[in-house]
Order: sequence, then structure tokens, then C-alpha cells
Amino acid sequence: MAQRFALMIDPAEVDADRTDFADTFTKVDAAAPALSVGELSTQRGDGVFESIGVVGRHAQEVIPHLERLAHSARLCDLPLPNQAQWRQAIEVAAAGCGEGEYVIKLILSRGVEHGPTPTAWVTVAPASDFSDVRENGVRVVTLDRGYDLDVAQRAPWLLLGAKTLSYAVNMAALREARRRGADDAIFLSRDGYVLEAPTASLILRRGGRFVTPAPNGGILHGTTQLSVYEHLNARGFAPEYDRIPASDLTSVDAAWLVSSVRLAAPITAIDDVEIPVDRSLTTELNEYLLSPRD
Ligand code: PLP
Repeated sequence: MAQRFALMIDPAEVDADRTDFADTFTKVDAAAPALSVGELSTQRGDGVFESIGVVGRHAQEVIPHLERLAHSARLCDLPLPNQAQWRQAIEVAAAGCGEGEYVIKLILSRGVEHGPTPTAWVTVAPASDFSDVRENGVRVVTLDRGYDLDVAQRAPWLLLGAKTLSYAVNMAALREARRRGADDAIFLSRDGYVLEAPTASLILRRGGRFVTPAPNGGILHGTTQLSVYEHLNARGFAPEYDRIPASDLTSVDAAWLVSSVRLAAPITAIDDVEIPVDRSLTTELNEYLLSPRD
């Protein structure tokens, strides 16, 4: 029986002097009402989140996700999350998962209009079955993100390096990709550089050189990409961060979209140009990403 529930969290101060936070969690059924109608995350998307993959009740890459949650909170002027409290909430959530793959979402919202702030909770739900896409890959189209590569420095209020709850643009990009006959998208900056996918990071291979767009504030720094780079380093490669012109995309020897729950999806075509698929490395990466990691 698939488990679905949420833990509402009474957020502790970032430096609260305690080690056990069990009494700050309230378990609620996924179908039960739990948020106030004045909740600013639902009214304005004003909050930040993380999606953590769970394999066999083990939550993956918890520390990198918590570090990014704190980074997003800082960029959004939200109260910083108490790391020990959130770690414990993730432990409780993971222990309540069933066998197989699950997803735990962490949500930290601005709170309730004229009411308590912030609001915090985690949700637990079974993950979709991504086995087909991990093996057979995705066709992608490139889409203009509408701003230059250096916009994050000029306009930090766009919150581009934060994983905010305002994903309407990302979802619209996925719908546009499907309208164009593809499965997913790669965003390009207006000045012609590769950014990221709407819900994933991009890794390219040319010969023995691996490269991903440098996280310069305009894109999220993916926890899965960091994990894959750790694995590639251990295998003796020296994977790199770089500015990648869009014109480089179709001359690669292999490419992947990587993210916490879908894991490594090989790219089979970019704007209808077929891309070679490195099947053995794809299998190796997904086996690695499914193994327990901290
Ligand atoms: N970039 C964006 C915009 C995302 O939404 C995501 C994940 O949801 C990623 C990159 C990949 O991040 P991670 O590997 O931490 O899941």
C-alpha cells in the first residue's frame, strides 16, 4: 500500500538550542486539509522547496538538499531553516515511506497573510515509474528563457538561483516542449548560452570531457549533477563547469538531463537532431544514483 502523508512542522529558530524536534511535527493524511486559505505559498508561490528522492526508505543527498533550501531561503529573505529540525523531519518522513522509490518534498513558505510566518511542511508520496525514460531517454527542444546569462547579477530580485515555489514558467515550458513534439526542454539565455532544463540539470559529454553550465546564479546548482560529478571524478574523469554556447549542443557524443527523482535521462534528440546515447554509462549512472548516498 503506497504511503502518502505530510508532516506539518512548527519551525524552530535557526540556532535553537535543542536536539530533538519530534514534538514540532504533526502527521497529517495527504488528503486531509492542512493549510490556511491565507497561505502565501498558495496565493503567490512565495516560498521555497526541495524534492528529495527516496530509495528503499533512504533519503538521498539530504545535506546538499538542506544546503540548497537554506540558500534559497536566504535569497528570498525567509527565516533560515533549522538544519537539525529538517534533518529529523526527513528521517521521520523516510521511515514512513514504503518499499521502492518515493519523493519527499520540503516546503518553506512565507506563511499566512496577517498570520503566523513561516509555514513549513514535508510531503511523502510514491515516485512515478521512470524506468522507461532512464533507459530510452527524452527528446528535447531548446527554448528561449528571455534573459541574458548575466541577469542574476543585474537583477537579483528575479531569484533565479533559488528553488522557489513559482514553477508556473517551468511547467509552461514543458507544455510548450510537448506541443513541439518533444518530452522536455533546455532553456537558452537570450545571448545564446545553455542554461538548464525546467526541472533538471544538463550534462554533456564530448569524448572524455564532461561539462555542465556553470551555476553563476542564473540556474539552480543541481544536487544530482553534483553527485554525478563525484562519481565521474572517482572514475578518473575531470568534469567541468563552463559557459556553453547553444551551437555546441548538437555536436556532443552524449547528453543527459539529471534530477533527484527521475535521475539520469539520456537525451536522444535536440531540436530534432539525433544525439548518440551512451547506454552503458547511462546504466552505470542510474545504478550509482539509485545506491544509498548522503
Ligand atoms: N534545475 C531546475 C530548474 C530544477 O527544478 C531541478 C530539480 O527540480 C534541477 C535543476 C535539478 O536539481 P536536483 O538534481 O537537485 O534535483
